[in-house]
Amino acid sequence: MLVKAIVPRGYCKGVVRAINIAKKASQQYQNVYILGMIVHNQYIVKALEDLGIQTIDAKGKTRLELLDEIDKGTVIITAHGASDQVFKKAKEKNLNIIDASCLDVIKTHDLIKDKLNQGYEILYIGKNGHPEAEGAISIDKEKIHLITCKEDIHKMDKQKHYIITNQTTMSLYDVYDLCEYAKGILPHLEIAKEICTATQIRQEAIHNIDNDVDIVFIVGDPHSHNTQKLASIAGQNKEVHMIESLQDLNINCLKGKKKAAVSSGASTPTYLTNQVIEFLKQFDETNKETFIKPTIEKSKILD
Ligand code: SF4
Repeated sequence: MLVKAIVPRGYCKGVVRAINIAKKASQQYQNVYILGMIVHNQYIVKALEDLGIQTIDAKGKTRLELLDEIDKGTVIITAHGASDQVFKKAKEKNLNIIDASCLDVIKTHDLIKDKLNQGYEILYIGKNGHPEAEGAISIDKEKIHLITCKEDIHKMDKQKHYIITNQTTMSLYDVYDLCEYAKGILPHLEIAKEICTATQIRQEAIHNIDNDVDIVFIVGDPHSHNTQKLASIAGQNKEVHMIESLQDLNINCLKGKKKAAVSSGASTPTYLTNQVIEFLKQFDETNKETFIKPTIEKSKILD
């Protein structure tokens, strides 16, 4: 089968940095915890567990609440960043804090703080409950308003001065739409789009996918926001399948297809994406021997 491996795809610099920080911490310290999932990918969480790093996570609990479950040792702040309150509480608990916040997330926090100091209120386009949105909104819950859809913009005060910004992993195209819409509703609005470069160029590459591609695979965890966004962009004009690994790939969907494209979320192990690419390259629907999938070697997940 013909395969277009979309470039760029997969790990972003923030995720690579966070994983390297965690690996190093596992060699230096005992009792190492990650506050929330380091990235939204179960394979990586399990691989870190094998190195002795425990992920503290529970659906619906904030980073601040999750800290209650750590009483000693080292806590790693994930690439999604965390609020000042989280750092303060971790310090009060005498934990050794290792900050793996992505520098792009910190840049957005700095922008928000700066604009709050200048008297603006903030409209933050993000996903409810996402750790990055949680960290940003916790900076000032009164003056930062989460925007998830156009209706939220109508709840704002037309007399106030707002700046609209966003979670770094939102869809480039959704953020553009929401900002344009908000401009028509709120007279005193400034725009500061903060899609990170890694997200932007991955989304653009999917958007510009070759016309002759007839099926697209996005490899990544179903909980990964940036992976979901890649799939939704591809789904605008192509048949798209989101899979966690080769094991989820349904052979039936390849029947009659000539060319596949493959991309992956910023948190997807390169090894898992390469397995999908290599499998598709050798796939021939007339030869059943090419239907056999290799197993996943856990030791290669963090490579
Ligand atoms: S997606 Fe962007 S903001 Fe998020 S960790 Fe990667 S580089 Fe940083």
